[in-house]
Amino acid sequence: MQPIKRNVLLNPGPATTTDTVKMAQVVPDICPREKEFAGLMKGLRSDLLKVVHAPEDEYTSVLFCGSGTINIDVCINSLVPEGKKVLVVNNGAYNSRAVEVCQMYHIPHIDLKFSVYEQPKLADVEKALQENPDVAVVYCCHHETGTGILNPIREIGALAHQYGAIFVSDTTSTLGMIPLDVVKDNVDFCMASAQKGLMAMSGLSFIIGKTDIIKASKDYPTRSYYCNLFLQYDYFEKTGEMHFTPPVQTIYATIQALKEYFEEGEEAKFARHHAVYEAIHKGLDEIGLETVIDRNIESGLVVSVKYPDTPGFSFEKIHDYCYERGFTIYPGKISTTNTFRLCSLGKIYPSDIEDFMVVLKEALNA
Ligand SMILES: *Cc1c(COP(=O)(O)O)cnc(C)c1O
Repeated sequence: MQPIKRNVLLNPGPATTTDTVKMAQVVPDICPREKEFAGLMKGLRSDLLKVVHAPEDEYTSVLFCGSGTINIDVCINSLVPEGKKVLVVNNGAYNSRAVEVCQMYHIPHIDLKFSVYEQPKLADVEKALQENPDVAVVYCCHHETGTGILNPIREIGALAHQYGAIFVSDTTSTLGMIPLDVVKDNVDFCMASAQKGLMAMSGLSFIIGKTDIIKASKDYPTRSYYCNLFLQYDYFEKTGEMHFTPPVQTIYATIQALKEYFEEGEEAKFARHHAVYEAIHKGLDEIGLETVIDRNIESGLVVSVKYPDTPGFSFEKIHDYCYERGFTIYPGKISTTNTFRLCSLGKIYPSDIEDFMVVLKEALNA
């Protein structure tokens, strides 16, 4: 077989994968309604719980076919009881997506806005909870992928619980990279897609959450057919299968990716991503490019870089120059500042960043 060209993806997912994960998709054709396939998904669902240290007797994982945003849709449309509200703790583009989901489904919500350059202020979260006893769901991203800010989810989760609400965290851009312990971190529901932290392929997303809350949600207003959490959970429990056709090949890739995840180990993988992040900052400092977010609140997975003042600077041109040489960089998501993003997701190493910085310097000079 021809070797597969290796691209270094510095975008915030999908991430650079191993060849073994890519090749795991090449399998004999199978009907996903076969017992053999249900058995694979059972193991996968249980391994997902292990990644976030979720006890099997309290938490379950539910798979969906779709990109990561499907999880936001599912959690918001399925977990809000009649007459109750969602409190979105919002400091950026990905939290705003949850607000948009609330709007689409006409679900009462509070959009508690903070600066996109800062972590949410806990005192303001608590004040909102005090003033709104009808909040049933508190929602916040673990990592605002748009800026690179890591949010204090453990503290926000504790506040949610103190005021009788459940806590849903969008962990799409941290799960499998920054150690997460759903019990200690006060997370009732978290979520991710297979192509980010787990370094598998796109098309499979999953929610990990409290089984008793999912069961209770059976009696909540239903707002979607395809994207209802209880329906999908219940179908898995009764049949071991997804309600509708699963992303078959992506599931094979994810199983391989999880095997490699446990082989690399939670702490070692965290340390590798962090070393890549340090290499990104070091390289930017050497070139003289400025970043936007205070390093003390950065996740260590995304760096937002300010456009240089150089006359004639064009992100497109820099992107294309790097892309042709196997490095993918990504536009920013901050409306008030022109930025691009460099991310430390995927199976990449500090040496990849050193190689990239040489190319970036050439691109800027060109
Ligand atoms: C990537 C990401 C998502 C999902 O994006 P998709 O394009 O739908 O895969 C959701 N939330 C966060 C925080 C993300 O980083």
